Amino acid sequence: MSEVLVVIDHAEGEVKKPTYELLTIARRLGEPSAVFFGSADKADAVAEKVKKYGAEKVYVIDDADVEGYLVAPKAEAMQQLAEKAGGEGGLAAILFPSSFEGKEVAARLAIKIESGLITDAVDVQEGPVTTQSVFAGSYTVTAKVTKGTPIITVKPNSAAPEETEGAAAVEAFTPTISDGAKTAQIIASQPRQSTGRPDLTEAAIVVSGGRGTGGNFEPIENFADSLGAAVGASRAAVDSGWMPHAFQVGQTGKTVSPQLYVANGISGAIQHRAGMQTSKTIVAVNKDDEAPIFELVDFGVVGDLHTVLPAATEEITKR
Ligand code: FAD
Repeated sequence: MSEVLVVIDHAEGEVKKPTYELLTIARRLGEPSAVFFGSADKADAVAEKVKKYGAEKVYVIDDADVEGYLVAPKAEAMQQLAEKAGGEGGLAAILFPSSFEGKEVAARLAIKIESGLITDAVDVQEGPVTTQSVFAGSYTVTAKVTKGTPIITVKPNSAAPEETEGAAAVEAFTPTISDGAKTAQIIASQPRQSTGRPDLTEAAIVVSGGRGTGGNFEPIENFADSLGAAVGASRAAVDSGWMPHAFQVGQTGKTVSPQLYVANGISGAIQHRAGMQTSKTIVAVNKDDEAPIFELVDFGVVGDLHTVLPAATEEITKR
C-alpha cells in the first residue's frame, strides 16, 4: 500500500482533532504516516496519540530550524520529506489541515514538487476524489489531482475520527533549510484569548446569530454552552459591532463545516451560506417562514429566537 503523509495539527504537542480526522481519511487512500513539526522531546507523546488512529510511522522534524519563521522552512522540509518518503511507488497523497498555515505550506509545496493541489475539501474518497464547495458556495464539485502527488487540504469535521491501532514508528527527519527560506522571522506572537468554547473552525457544533438577535447574543451563547458549541455570527451582526470579526461566518469570514450548524435570526444570504453550507446538519430559527435560509436547512423552526432558544436551552440543560 502506498504511503500517505498527514501533517499533524497541534499546539505545543497537544494534537488537535482535525489530525485524527485526516488520519481516518488517509486510511482510505493508503498507509498513513504522520508528520510532526515540533520539539523532539514531545515526539513520543504525540506518536502515542496518532498511533490510536492508525499512523504507521511518525516523521519528526525538530522545529529548531523551522520554529520562529513563517511557513517557507516548513514547505522546504515537506519537499525533502516528500522526495524521500513513499519509496519507489511514491506517495499516494499528502494531507494538510485546512488552516491558514496548512493551506500556505501546501500551496508552496505543490509548486516545489510540481503537483496538483486541492484546498478546503469536505470529503476525500479513494482515488483520491475530493468534494469541495467553490465560487462562494455556488457549486459543490468533485475533483481529482491529475499531476504529481495529490496534495489536499481538508476542512475540520470532514470525517468522524475512527480509532485503529497503528505502529507509529518514530523516525527523525532532518531537512536542510536554505537561508532563503529563513528571510521572514516571527518577532512576537500572542495567543488568542480563550473564550472557553471550542474553536469556531474546528467545533462539531456551531450556534450563530444574525441581525435577528437585535444585538442580544445571550440566548445564542447560552444555547451554545448547553451544547458545548462554538458561537458564530453573520456579517450584519459583526458590522453592527455586536460580535468581533473573528466570529464571522461566511465569504469574508470563517468557513465552518460542523456536524451541526444552528443559524438564528440569519436570513441566509449567499455570502453567509458560503461559509457554512457544507455543515452536515443545518437548523435555522427565523421568524420569517420565507427566509431563504429555510431552503438550505434540514430542520427549521419558525419563531422568535428570543423565545425558542431559551426554551431549547432549558430543555437541553435538564437532560
Ligand atoms: P438579515 O439579512 O437582515 O437577516 C436577519 C434575519 O433575522 C431575517 O431573516 C429575519 O426574518 C430574522 N429575524 C429578525 N428578528 C428575528 C427574531 N426575533 N427571531 C428570529 N428571527 C428573526 N454575510 C455574512 O454573514 N458573512 C460574510 O462573510 C459576508 N460576506 C459578504 C461579502 C460581500 C462582498 C458582501 C457584499 C456581503 C457579505 N455578507 C456576508 C453580507 C450578506 O450579504 C448579508 O447582508 C448578511 O449575511 C445578512 O446578515 P443577517 O442574515 O444576520 O441579516
